[in-house]
Amino acid sequence: MADCIFCKIIARQIPSQIVYEDEQAVAFKDVSPQAPTHLLIVPRKHVAGLSACGDEDQALLGHLQRVAASVAAKAGVASGYRLVTNNGRSAGQSVDHLHYHLLGGRSLQWPPG
Ligand code: AMP
Repeated sequence: MADCIFCKIIARQIPSQIVYEDEQAVAFKDVSPQAPTHLLIVPRKHVAGLSACGDEDQALLGHLQRVAASVAAKAGVASGYRLVTNNGRSAGQSVDHLHYHLLGGRSLQWPPG
């Protein structure tokens, strides 16, 4: 999608710190980290968010979670991390390209704000 910042990162049209990529997914460092480890796991396919996914995305969604677990292990936070997606403005979504935040490296509070 032409004006999507994450599509531009995936296409390497703007710089980012990519830590993992495969044919379906890319993981890169969040530019405004909220924890010592803060990665974003995104599909190459542009889809606006979790609620925009359809039955055809079921395998992709599973893959993104497998990628998250793998990059968590590579980042050294496998013993404790949080994987979260914000869906909709009221939940804090600011980029309309499906992404999972992977947060780790510090104690995480519950419930989140
Ligand atoms: P959300 O608010 O859940 O939609 O998350 C969007 C995330 O994207 C935020 O945590 C931002 O800090 C992050 N972000 C925005 N632009 C960039 C960028 N160019 N590179 C890396 N992370 C970004």
